[in-house]
Amino acid sequence: MDIEGKVVETVEEYDLMVKKDKVVVALSGGKDSTSVLYILKKLGYDVHGLMIDLYLGEWSEIHKKNMTRFCEELDVPLTVVDLKKEIGQGICFVKAVLAKKKGLTGCTVCGIIKRWVLNKWARKLGADVIVTGHNLDDEAQNVLMNYLKGNVSLGAGLAPMTGGSQLKIVGGSSSESSGGSELEILGGSASLGACVAKNQEPRTKNQLNFVQRVKPLFFVPESEVRKFAEDMKFDILYDRCPCAFGTYRVDTRGWMVENMKDEDKLKVVEGFMESVGGMKKDDREVRSCEVCGEVSRGKVCKFCEIVQCV
Ligand code: AMP
Ligand code: ZN
Repeated sequence: MDIEGKVVETVEEYDLMVKKDKVVVALSGGKDSTSVLYILKKLGYDVHGLMIDLYLGEWSEIHKKNMTRFCEELDVPLTVVDLKKEIGQGICFVKAVLAKKKGLTGCTVCGIIKRWVLNKWARKLGADVIVTGHNLDDEAQNVLMNYLKGNVSLGAGLAPMTGGSQLKIVGGSSSESSGGSELEILGGSASLGACVAKNQEPRTKNQLNFVQRVKPLFFVPESEVRKFAEDMKFDILYDRCPCAFGTYRVDTRGWMVENMKDEDKLKVVEGFMESVGGMKKDDREVRSCEVCGEVSRGKVCKFCEIVQCV
């Protein structure tokens, strides 16, 4: 099956989105998010590009130019969020401070900041879902990394759709639920909308304003995405993020490239979903962050912890 067929199959089987949804695609400028935007637009979805300018020097400038041109050509609106306007600093400064003060290295800080900014802006844009370009290699890598770290259950809930529909919400005063949702509410103040795309109903909107994240390339190996982007002659950069070196993630990726075929990656991910993923859903509690009001595991979210440090 080609990459478009795999996207269609994943979207349908996991109810990732419907045609009337507002679909915000998180665009890094790399081959994965560029390809998924292109495919979803071609399939007739109402797509909108969302890019965070992280201020990674020339690398960010080139990605920004490429995505501006790409979206113009496809007639897709693009919103570029300026990280310095959001948090007062570019990502390199934030990472340097956090490495020194908290010993946080690797891609952790960047991941926390990206998730927070993407959720906030996707909501501002009225998104029903946020699409990311995560592919099969990313997911297999996560399973292996969690295993090697001795924390297999961190991957609980691994699926093309993450978060929203399984969240257990704490705090607030009243609760209300609607049929079909797995959402478990322990208190809370606002109401839930109806659920599941299967019936073409509006999808779950929970009171924490969490925008559902979905990954249409979940079952597509990186090699196939690369081939698609090259065949399509997308005018983009194929280099990895200049910050991602010497990290556990990069080492695991290198090992995977040398030792695993694409079929093996699929077995790792599907096997994990059938066993651990299915046995234990991600039922950790979430609440509103006391500082920013965004969704959080603790009283104060990881993003606010980071920003307070800088
Ligand atoms: P990464 O964490 O860099 O592997 O990226 C994973 C996915 O996150 C990408 O496929 C994009 O969908 C999204 N993403 C990464 N960087 C950005 C960015 N600067 N702006 C918007 N979305 C991004
Ligand atoms: Zn917060």
